[in-house]
Amino acid sequence: MKDCLFCKIASGEIPTEKIYEDEQICAFFDIAPQAKTHFLVIPKKHIANLMELKETDAPLMGQLLYQAEELAKKLGLEENGARFVFNCKEDGGQTVSHIHLHVLGGRKLSWPPG
Ligand code: 5GP
Ligand code: ZN
Repeated sequence: MKDCLFCKIASGEIPTEKIYEDEQICAFFDIAPQAKTHFLVIPKKHIANLMELKETDAPLMGQLLYQAEELAKKLGLEENGARFVFNCKEDGGQTVSHIHLHVLGGRKLSWPPG
């Protein structure tokens, strides 16, 4: 989608080091990490947020979750765990309107969120 930051990152228009990439998905470290390890996993297809998902997106999102947890393990988060988060729209704290899964690990995170 034109003028979408994460579409531009996915397509390479904005150069960003990818830590995972296949035909449908890519992952990269967050520019403002909130934990020792903080990366984002996105579908290359533009979907604005979690509530915009169609039933036909289920295989794509299943694949996204699977690659996220594989990457979390590769980055050393298996033993202590991590947080996997989709912020959705204004009340969910979403600032970039292209669906993305945050993976945060490497420190103990508090709950509930503020
Ligand atoms: P949200 O607030 O929408 O849940 O998450 C958006 C995330 O994208 C934020 O954690 C923010 O730091 C990250 N972000 C925003 N712009 C960029 C960018 O240009 N590059 C990268 N790698 N991350 C970004
Ligand atoms: Zn987009």
